[in-house]
Amino acid sequence: MWRGAVVRVVRGGGAGSPRAHSGTAVAQLRRRLEGELEAIRGAGTWKSERIIASRQGPHLRLAGGGAGAYGEAGRAFGLFPRCDTRASLSFPAGILNFCANNYLGLSSHPEVIRAAVEALEKFGAGLSSVRFICGTQSIHKDLEEKIARFHQREDAILYASCFDANAGIFEALLTPEDAVLSDELNHASIIDGIRLCKANKYRYKHMDMQDLEAKLQDAQKHRLRLVATDGAFSMDGDIAPLREICQLAQKYDALVFIDECHATGFLGPSGRGTDELLGVMDKVTIINSTLGKALGGAAGGYTTGPKPLIDLLRQRSRPYLFSNSLPPAVVGCASKALDLLMESNAIAQSMAAKTQRFRSKMTAAGFTISGKDHPICPVMLGDARLAAVMAEDMLNRGIYVIGFSYPVVPKGKARIRVQISAVHSDEDIDRCVEAFTEVGQKHGALP
Ligand code: PLP
Repeated sequence: MWRGAVVRVVRGGGAGSPRAHSGTAVAQLRRRLEGELEAIRGAGTWKSERIIASRQGPHLRLAGGGAGAYGEAGRAFGLFPRCDTRASLSFPAGILNFCANNYLGLSSHPEVIRAAVEALEKFGAGLSSVRFICGTQSIHKDLEEKIARFHQREDAILYASCFDANAGIFEALLTPEDAVLSDELNHASIIDGIRLCKANKYRYKHMDMQDLEAKLQDAQKHRLRLVATDGAFSMDGDIAPLREICQLAQKYDALVFIDECHATGFLGPSGRGTDELLGVMDKVTIINSTLGKALGGAAGGYTTGPKPLIDLLRQRSRPYLFSNSLPPAVVGCASKALDLLMESNAIAQSMAAKTQRFRSKMTAAGFTISGKDHPICPVMLGDARLAAVMAEDMLNRGIYVIGFSYPVVPKGKARIRVQISAVHSDEDIDRCVEAFTEVGQKHGALP
């Protein structure tokens, strides 16, 4: 589109003609954008993207020879005894990856990949349609049924992403007569979804039950109240106090909505999520979650809950109505991931044991790790520069972790976020802790 505008300017038109005006507009836009980009660089908040030249997994190879050669194959996959992992996987050695949401290691699981290939061959590359025109295949219905069964809910609806599920639900469900009460640290997609709806909006302090209660009292004047919270918060690895939230919801006649992107598949005795972990599966009304993290890591999201709600979303939810169906290969991945999890929770247990190993060794080494028992392990450092240089130095030692600082996290709370996966081996975890200890001592982060 831009190129088109430039071409028109080149071809003709004197000063004051519409074509020249269009050229000026493009030039103005470029100047403004360059200024904004410079400001982002100047603020030190520029996000660069490292290019990975291998599969997602515990070991990565970066493009441009950034790290190591291919080596030892998928050794961590001893977890999946039915698969001939050595034959089917080839993880590069060198960079150890500790920053993916690949909690269960299913992104490169041989059975998950095979299921995707089979779905691709049988059902094609894509639907070229939204669901309600000609975009619903039997595999979409099967996956929705499986998701509902996994969460023990009445029905489920698929979206292209959980961002879309969050963008679609509040507007479809809530009117100006209603109220939504949202944790101040909820994910950006919940915040955006709430912005799109016309309900009365209350923002309560992070996990602060006194503040939530005060807001619920105020919200009694509205027809319906919906409390919305992340089940697990991705920056801190802390878990919402769902038991208390559900008690308050009961007291003030409110519904509870949770975003389970960082919980589905691994929290709770059988990996159902935060509601199972905290014993409130029957008290949470609506769950949104992703297929793009623990459940195979491809893409996709969903809402699961009461059938009339799901029926309404199929009629009213804009990201569902006006966006293409999930590609069959993606559906195949997620469906197989759920099968594996419903067969056994050994993978989730393995991840929990490795999380425990990392947290206790890091704490013993003198670091402060935020959250409790969650595979998101934020190594709290405080200073933004320290987090950045330590993350860079970790990469020099072959450990891929990311530093987060303001405005992604509050000022003075910079950290390096480490994410543990079931496919990390104990040796991988120990190597990471050793590197942190060396780098922490070098930069004065340890006493
Ligand atoms: N909600 C939370 C809490 C998330 O962390 C994310 C992803 O980062 C999303 C929603 C969006 O999920 P998706 O990648 O499926 O759009």
